Amino acid sequence: MTLDIARIRKDFPILDQQVYNKPLVYLDSAASSQKALSVLKKEEQLHLEYYGNIHRGAHFMADQATNDFEAVRDLTKDLLGANSREEIIFTKGTTESINLVAFSFGEAFVNAGDEIIVSEMEHHANIVPWQLMAARKGAKIVVLPFDDHGRLEIEKLDELMTSKTKLIAVAHVANTLGTINPVKQIIAKAHQAGVKVLVDGAQAISHLKVDVQDLDADFYVFSAHKMYGPNGVGVLYGKKELLNQMPPYQSGGEMISEVTFQKTSFNELPYKFEAGTPNITGVIAFGEAIRYLQSLAMDEVAAYEHQLLEYATQKMNEIPGMLIFGTQKEKSGVITFNIEGIHPFDLGTMLDKMGIAVRTGRLCADPVMDHFQQPATIRVSFAVYNTLEEIDQFIEALKKLVAMLS
Ligand code: PLP
Repeated sequence: MTLDIARIRKDFPILDQQVYNKPLVYLDSAASSQKALSVLKKEEQLHLEYYGNIHRGAHFMADQATNDFEAVRDLTKDLLGANSREEIIFTKGTTESINLVAFSFGEAFVNAGDEIIVSEMEHHANIVPWQLMAARKGAKIVVLPFDDHGRLEIEKLDELMTSKTKLIAVAHVANTLGTINPVKQIIAKAHQAGVKVLVDGAQAISHLKVDVQDLDADFYVFSAHKMYGPNGVGVLYGKKELLNQMPPYQSGGEMISEVTFQKTSFNELPYKFEAGTPNITGVIAFGEAIRYLQSLAMDEVAAYEHQLLEYATQKMNEIPGMLIFGTQKEKSGVITFNIEGIHPFDLGTMLDKMGIAVRTGRLCADPVMDHFQQPATIRVSFAVYNTLEEIDQFIEALKKLVAMLS
């Protein structure tokens, strides 16, 4: 292991502070990770030195901003192992990327009576856009279930996929269960039946090595704010031949090639899907988040986070009444749990007062909560900057609270 976690933590100065007079233990990176210093510095540098609107070529600063913005498209292409830069569309986040595909893919390829398969463990962002599209097109949502360990029952795809199935929407890593889904296998199965696949990579991109060509994903989406980058930036990767057949999602400046009052012709990829002034600062700063991730060996990041996961799981299982939701072997650094007889909101609030930042609630995944019949849960999630000592602090706090609240 060559990852130097003490060194890495210096890149996230926000972590080195006290809240309520207790050392901060940040265990909510699945909701949003903290931002690397290089990302913050880039935002500042852009605003102090060369900010201008992009793609207008109007002056020196606009040119420089345009060059940097487009260089991040190349960086993103390399990060994902995509075939071409035209396949990288900048959005404001995973949610917008999925809405874009649901709308435009729906317009191009989905007809009344068609079916979209959505896994039971999806975040609401990968459910609701498909429902809206299905309602508009007269299509139907079909659910791919998971078992009580949080394993997606992919063998059921054989019966669920029919001649009417157009697309499967599935998370690479589930935000509640932490399950790492066998997306390569799912995609291969889907493609045999002529079905396209959208992979929601929001919880995978900063934890696993992703290669969209190796996966053969048709669409792969994620958000920068979960990968040490800025808010308000997301990526849609889509295969060129599909994106070319899909109509624009939003319209306005930048996405056109020529406009008259009689007729508008659209710009080429990727600009066809990037209407209006984008998040210039965010995208340029996102480039630093990619560089940061690329400076870490992803295999080592995954191994280290797995060590945190195993250590925390083992310690948590020693606590009486512990219920962990998602116990698959192939699991990322996310633990969703409850403790029998204790309300998750009480526990979450009191953990916060002890300096431990966790997520409580339904985790934007009502179907997962319903599967386990839980009104709400607590989630801890790990990133490369977390330490075994922080897990000890969390466990110690948890034990104290359980003794107090039981
Ligand atoms: N998909 C998954 C798996 C997520 O975990 C999240 C956010 O938590 C989203 C989608 C939505 O991401 P965003 O809010 O950045 O659009």
